[in-house]
Amino acid sequence: MLSARQRWSALAITIAALAGATFALVSDGSTDTSSGVRQSQSSARALAPAAETRPVPHSGDAADDPAIWIHPRARSRSTIIGTDKRGGLAVYDLAGRQLQYVPDGRMNNVDLRAGFGLGGRRVALVAASNRSDDSVALYRVDERTRRLVRAGSFGAGITVYGLCMHRSRRDGRFYVFVDSKRGEVEQWLLTATGRRISARRVRSFDVGSDVEGCVADDALSRLYVGEEQRGIWRFGAEPDAGTTKTLIDSTGASGHLTADVEGLAIADGPGDSGLLIASSQGDDTFAVYRRDGDNAFVGRFRIGAARGIDDVEETDGIDVTTTALGPRFPGGLLVAQDGRNPGGNQNFKLVRWRGFP
Ligand code: CA
Ligand code: CA
Ligand code: CA
Ligand code: CA
Repeated sequence: MLSARQRWSALAITIAALAGATFALVSDGSTDTSSGVRQSQSSARALAPAAETRPVPHSGDAADDPAIWIHPRARSRSTIIGTDKRGGLAVYDLAGRQLQYVPDGRMNNVDLRAGFGLGGRRVALVAASNRSDDSVALYRVDERTRRLVRAGSFGAGITVYGLCMHRSRRDGRFYVFVDSKRGEVEQWLLTATGRRISARRVRSFDVGSDVEGCVADDALSRLYVGEEQRGIWRFGAEPDAGTTKTLIDSTGASGHLTADVEGLAIADGPGDSGLLIASSQGDDTFAVYRRDGDNAFVGRFRIGAARGIDDVEETDGIDVTTTALGPRFPGGLLVAQDGRNPGGNQNFKLVRWRGFP
């Protein structure tokens, strides 16, 4: 019989092999709490940034959460949409150049889903939580200009904070999840009549304390919510999934996370495989879990300085895709907010992802 620790090691090695070994997976045995061994920031292997975005216009803690838009035909023309939580949304190309800044309010989190029927077309729909008026701002991406076009907004029933989107595999419906610092989560169904988008609240529940980062796994119909001081919860993503929740990892000595738990993202693999990635803000690392089953912990990484680009600290939001985005990002792209960007306002770092080629 393999010990628990040996099984973890075997799993990590298997997945590291799949990841082409560029992705530092550390089987750290930190499930063994009796030894008091905790994985430290210094022993997490570093991924190197390949580019960084222009800093956001506002100073202080301003950049927060990115979303990757994949151009449906010209993948190297894909973009990153990032929040400036003191003023709006920015759109960047894959070299980090700013293509647009939309000064529409204190946008905290952003997410998107492609394939939304609007005005007789299928569009990529972007949603952002706007703390200026506790609304959800909606945009579509103009494929030709790559710019955001306003598509409406709706008031949430809570003091908005985190946000993520979900497209059901069961019936193709589009949803926005929005949460509050008090731990409330709301699920809104989005429908369109012509060019007009309507939103209807279809579920509300309470996680307990401060929540922000969230991500929906469309294929597995799962919703992950980070309770900042506590850990990562898994819920069902459909509106009829109820309030059953499972704690998949926690902060403190019993887990692999150091508060705050912040951004969450899914790196799709073939079939149901792939990884769930979480920003462990308190130790400047990213924790990695299997996407399927019980979300077994796989390892962790950090993003170190390279190519004249500073390292990544105090990350809030993240996003990742395993879709090849042209020659610069042949295995995909990981984007992470950087809380400290010497010499400038905060920005986002871009990392070549090679997790699942
Ligand atoms: Ca921050
Ligand atoms: Ca996001
Ligand atoms: Ca937070
Ligand atoms: Ca930095």
